[in-house]
Amino acid sequence: MSLLDLLQATPAAFIGLCVVLGLLVGSFLNVVIHRLPKMLELGWQRQCAELRGETLEVHEKYNLLVPRSACPHCHHPIGAMENIPVLSYILLRGKCRGCGAAISLRYPLIEAASGLFCGFAAWHFGFGMASVGAILLVWSLLALTAIDIDTQLLPDDITLPLLWAGLVCNIGGTYVTLHDAVLGALFGYLSLWAVYWLFKIVTGKEGMGYGDFKLLAALGAWLGWQMLPLIILLSSLVGAVVGIALIIAARRGREIPIPFGPYLAGGGLIGLFWGHDLVQRYLQLFAQ
Ligand SMILES: [Zn+2]
Repeated sequence: MSLLDLLQATPAAFIGLCVVLGLLVGSFLNVVIHRLPKMLELGWQRQCAELRGETLEVHEKYNLLVPRSACPHCHHPIGAMENIPVLSYILLRGKCRGCGAAISLRYPLIEAASGLFCGFAAWHFGFGMASVGAILLVWSLLALTAIDIDTQLLPDDITLPLLWAGLVCNIGGTYVTLHDAVLGALFGYLSLWAVYWLFKIVTGKEGMGYGDFKLLAALGAWLGWQMLPLIILLSSLVGAVVGIALIIAARRGREIPIPFGPYLAGGGLIGLFWGHDLVQRYLQLFAQ
């Protein structure tokens, strides 16, 4: 019996493997969340310098693999034993072993979320392409959510490959037909683009960014155009509730931008796992 046969025949083994994989990649997602915005900024500075006819002095190599992870306070390099997803955080009681500085709770949270969602995807879809795709989508959405909260950016380096991956996944109709996927990407982009311009013409302000359009286009490519109203409705509802709560709780001005990406990502995850059921139930309300 090959490993693939074993995973196909034993759902518990497949789910377990996906949880472990999710935890490990969750640890890498933390690196992406932390470094990708800095890498982008460095790239922009380099381009600006080039335009001015200068060259930017970069002393150290900086990408997703180099340099090695270290404590931001004391630069104590993080060894393998301190890098076990979730477990290391608990064993170290959330403190750096070198200097005792607090480690952000977000690291184990991202790792745990990745592990849980990967396990859930494996259980929900079972052994096959649908699980593999769902796991890729979960990872991308987790990274985009955290980066958007930190920097109010949804990098093209994630949203655009995600869009293409959704289309490729649906060539064989993994989630929806290719036809519905292409229309999903198109309408996903255009719907928020239209809202953006309406808002801008009426109020003279920018309500959201182009990254939001690209993210909704990507979700449309994965889940089909039929899922777009549900995603927009869910993300607007949750966004409005959280936004109002933040304004009241922190007395934040209404002018401070609140990233929309996390809500779109949340709406997309709900659409991925429960969208068909929700849409069916909604339509049944009118069929009676
Ligand atoms: Zn330290």
